[in-house]
Amino acid sequence: MTELIKTEIITVNPEAIDQTALARAATVLRRGGLVAFPTETVYGLGAVIYNRESVKKIFTVKGRPGDNPLIVHIYQWEQLMELAREVPETARILAQRFWPGPLTLVLPKKEAIPVEVSAGLPTVAVRLPAHPVAQELLRQTGQPVAAPSANTSGRPSPTRSSHVIADLDGKIELIIDAGPTGVGVESTVLDLTGPKLRILRPGGVTREMLEAVFGPELVEAPPQINCERPLAPGMKYRHYAPRAPLRLLTGDPELVRRFLLEGAAAARAQGKKIGIIAYDEDQDPAFAVTGVTFFSLGRRANPTEGAARLFHLLRLCDQAGVDKIYAVAPPRQGVGEAVFNRLYKAAGGKVEEIK
Ligand code: AMP
Ligand code: MG
Repeated sequence: MTELIKTEIITVNPEAIDQTALARAATVLRRGGLVAFPTETVYGLGAVIYNRESVKKIFTVKGRPGDNPLIVHIYQWEQLMELAREVPETARILAQRFWPGPLTLVLPKKEAIPVEVSAGLPTVAVRLPAHPVAQELLRQTGQPVAAPSANTSGRPSPTRSSHVIADLDGKIELIIDAGPTGVGVESTVLDLTGPKLRILRPGGVTREMLEAVFGPELVEAPPQINCERPLAPGMKYRHYAPRAPLRLLTGDPELVRRFLLEGAAAARAQGKKIGIIAYDEDQDPAFAVTGVTFFSLGRRANPTEGAARLFHLLRLCDQAGVDKIYAVAPPRQGVGEAVFNRLYKAAGGKVEEIK
C-alpha cells in the first residue's frame, strides 16, 4: 500500500492554453512527479522516461503488470531519433500522414531507454499526440514522457478527469483537467519491426486508413488481438472492465433485441439490475418497463460516437450499480473495430452469437 499524497488538480482550457500552469506541470514531471494529462485518445499518466523511479511508480500506482510496456510520448518528430535505433521510411510516411494523432509506432529501441519503459522488450512504442495540452506539456518538459492510460489497471480507461480522480486521487502529484477527450479509445499500436505493418491493438487510426496508404497486403491484423502482453500472445485477462460481469452479444439485431428483452425480464424476476450498452436503434420501450438501464453508444452507422462514449458508459454502469451488463457488439469497421476489441476484453475475451 503506497502512502497517500495530496493530488493537485488544475484546469486548462485547450482553446486558450495557460502556459504558466503547464510550466508548473512540466516542472513536476522533470522533478520526478507523476502527472495525469489529457490526450486526444484518453488521459495519460506521465513520467519522464529517464526518471526510472518515477516510471516504476507508474506501475505501482496503476497496479500494472511489470511486463506491460509503456508508450513514450513526444511532441516533435526529431525526438524519435533519440528513442529508436532505426527509423524506417515507413515510419516517416506514417508520421507524415498520421502524426500528431492516435497512432503508436513500435520500433527497435535505443540502449538509453530504461528497461522499465520497454518492460524488457528490445523495442519501444512511440506516439506524438494531437491534443494541444499534451503537446504543450511535452514541449515544456523537453524530454520524452512515458504515459499509459491514467486508470487503475484493468478498469475502463479514463476519458474525463473525473475518471482519473476516481482511480488515482492521492496517488499522483498532479492531474490536468481539460474536459472530455475526443477520440475516446486508445491509440492504434503498430509494429514496424516485421515485413508487414502489424496492428497489435486497434485504435483511433483505423485499419482502413492504413490500408488506404499502404494497400491491404501490407497491413496485418490478427483476428483476436491481445497485446496486453505484447509479442507473447495467448495471455488473457479481463481488461477495460466495469465491476459487473459483461456479456458481449452479436447476431441479427432483431434476435439480439429479443434475447435482451427476455434477459431483462428474467433478471427483474430475480430482483437483479441490468445495464444494456447498445445503439440508439436498439432502444425498445419495453426496456423501461423491465427496469433496464440503457446506455447508448449513439448511432450504429457512426462508430466515432460509440468510441467517444464507451469508457464513460462502462463507468456509468458501475455508478448505476447494475448486476449484469449486456453489450451489443459494434460493427467491426473503422474505429468500431477498436470499440469491439475493448468490449471483447471487458467480457473476458468472449463474444456470444445469438441465433
Ligand atoms: P496503455 O498505454 O495502457 O493504453 O497501453 C499501452 C499499449 O502499448 C499496451 O497494449 C502495450 O502492450 C503496448 N506497447 C507498449 N510498448 C510496446 C512494445 N514495445 N511492443 C509492443 N507493444 C507495446
Ligand atoms: Mg491502458
